Amino acid sequence: DATSFAVRVAPLGGTGLVLVLAEDQTERRRVEAVRRDFVANISHELKTPIGALSLLAETITDASDDPEAVRRFTGRMQQETSRLTSVIQDLITLSRIQGAEPMADPERIDVETVVEEALDAVRTTADTKEIELVTSGAEGIVALGDEGLLVTALRNLVANAVAYSPERTRVSVMAQTTDTEIEISVADQGIGIPAQDLERIFERFYRVDAARSRATGGTGLGLAIVKHIMTHHRGEVTVWSKEGSGSTFTLRLPRPEPREQTHSEDTTER
Ligand code: ADP
Repeated sequence: DATSFAVRVAPLGGTGLVLVLAEDQTERRRVEAVRRDFVANISHELKTPIGALSLLAETITDASDDPEAVRRFTGRMQQETSRLTSVIQDLITLSRIQGAEPMADPERIDVETVVEEALDAVRTTADTKEIELVTSGAEGIVALGDEGLLVTALRNLVANAVAYSPERTRVSVMAQTTDTEIEISVADQGIGIPAQDLERIFERFYRVDAARSRATGGTGLGLAIVKHIMTHHRGEVTVWSKEGSGSTFTLRLPRPEPREQTHSEDTTER
């Protein structure tokens, strides 16, 4: 894309000087294009299940004297409805969180609870695929932030780890602290992500394999939500992956100041 400039010329009153402003349009055009793509993607993601629902409703009407067919089609309708609900739910979460200022009034959070709640959400799916869920290190680590949002972020990572892994593999959630940070990583032994896709997977609706993602119930918004939640916490999410052998996603949060960490003791001293 060629760089383009919008040039504005304004005389500076009485000085005989002229002010020339050159504004780079390239970035503005890019932002515009991303916004248009996003709206087009939303329309597509909503229209597809709605189209399917409408077709299924018609088919059921025609098949009303065949109870077995009716049962099959209503099952499909339920699937399409829950897919629609997931997309809308993810869009609501995303619009609430993206562009939000870093959190002003974070709460103290027990990282072990966050890990447990995130894992609870995927246990059934993991069990059916005989995927072993293991955790370590989270005990006693306190973070600052919004517990619900951190659970959402970690749940999205663990759900992906389970979704993009074959049966009888292992998903590990490990937490640790460094001098300045709290790290929570999710490692899987799954299909991995091709190198050329790695930098794009955090974009809204970007998928390496759209058919596979939809089949596993994915909305394509999970990692975009994770990224925005981490920004909101002054943290970040990073990924390491090797196609065919697995992926590791790491959430990083700033470590609370010692004074913030012992906040509960402080109040008892007063
Ligand atoms: P989706 O709902 O499609 O899973 P995400 O935003 O959560 O959307 O992820 C974007 C894409 O990144 C996925 O479609 C998938 O191709 C890839 N991906 C995410 N996590 C993993 C993982 N643990 N292993 C392999 N691929 C992954």
